[in-house]
Amino acid sequence: QVVLPDKEQFLMPSYACQRLTPLESHNNKFTEALSLLAENAELNNEEGRAVAFRRAAAVLKALPVMVTSATQLRGLPCLGEHSQRVIKDIIENGVSNEVESTMHSERFKALKLLTGIFGVGAKTADRWFKEGIQSLTQLVHSGHELNPAQQAGLEHYHDLNQPVTKAEAEAIGDIVRRVVLDVLPGSEMTLTGGFRRGKMTGHDVDFLITHPDEGKETGLISKVVSLLTAQGLLLYQKTTRNSYMENKGRLAQPSSTMDRFERCFCIFKLEIKEMRPDKDWRAVRVDLVVAPISQYAFAVLGWTGSKLFERELRRWASQVKSMSLSSHALFDIKQCKYLRTTSEEEIFSHLGLEFIPPTERNA
Ligand code: ATP
Ligand code: MN
Ligand code: MN
Repeated sequence: QVVLPDKEQFLMPSYACQRLTPLESHNNKFTEALSLLAENAELNNEEGRAVAFRRAAAVLKALPVMVTSATQLRGLPCLGEHSQRVIKDIIENGVSNEVESTMHSERFKALKLLTGIFGVGAKTADRWFKEGIQSLTQLVHSGHELNPAQQAGLEHYHDLNQPVTKAEAEAIGDIVRRVVLDVLPGSEMTLTGGFRRGKMTGHDVDFLITHPDEGKETGLISKVVSLLTAQGLLLYQKTTRNSYMENKGRLAQPSSTMDRFERCFCIFKLEIKEMRPDKDWRAVRVDLVVAPISQYAFAVLGWTGSKLFERELRRWASQVKSMSLSSHALFDIKQCKYLRTTSEEEIFSHLGLEFIPPTERNA
């Protein structure tokens, strides 16, 4: 363990996209506490508070040493009073009472359980909680009509709350790639999301698909979904066509995380080798996204995450560079023009940022 002399201060730029954030942090006990408070704020629909805790956690994730004394926090960006108090409590007492009581509160436990159902967001969970629903059994007996996503989410609750391994992600990748190439030879597919950042497990598997001839990719997803369905590989799917051009006039809000690509959010039925007594498959959440080659670099960047890293990139673009970044394009507001690129490296360079490799985007 490296102990810093008191008063030594770190040089830490304030936007997460200006610094390296590896997967392994030296400050897990602090970042886990702050992330829990962020999650709680999200469940309470307190977006601003949630982002403040996420930014504070990200600063500690990027620190090259373990924090052992409050004096080390001086000069660090994004650490508000509240976050500093939580960190100090943990330094002094080993735990933060606020974090402990939040974690064990009936409300937090119930909302976490309910939002663990695919298709259930914070607002729905909160409404149910206020009606006294705190368990899956209570939900089932409440008589609430669930939409198809929620029904599938409830049915596969256990599997979908089981981390997906890299090996499972690759197995699904092999199956999907074969179908994609069948439908459109020459297509390219990239594993994005957390796995591209080097994570060994994830809550889902994210794939991005394109074709070197612009336009060929149009309509690809529905054909892929038909074939996968015919093979009995999809337990649930919701396909959306591309709606980017329809809204060209009013540019998507820079802070909006939803993009307009052709996509399919689905639940995959993955055969598992080691036969379990009850069943020989498991359910896995999979996101399939199709991007035209001209937007591919933006799409890869936008789908690699982390969520906070993406948010910070967009904030940097708009606040510092007067640009608007999305998963489709980069628009220079002062020059009033789109900046073309073919690689992530070029996007960072347009933004005046050092290139941050995917494995260092774990903010
Ligand atoms: P995990 O390993 O838990 O899945 P993750 O980082 O892969 O973590 P995801 O929720 O799968 O998390 O999201 C991956 C990336 O895709 C994130 O950067 C997110 O911003 C982006 N993303 C997710 N959903 C959408 C969406 N509907 N529109 C645009 N981008 C999205
Ligand atoms: Mn993911
Ligand atoms: Mn995803």
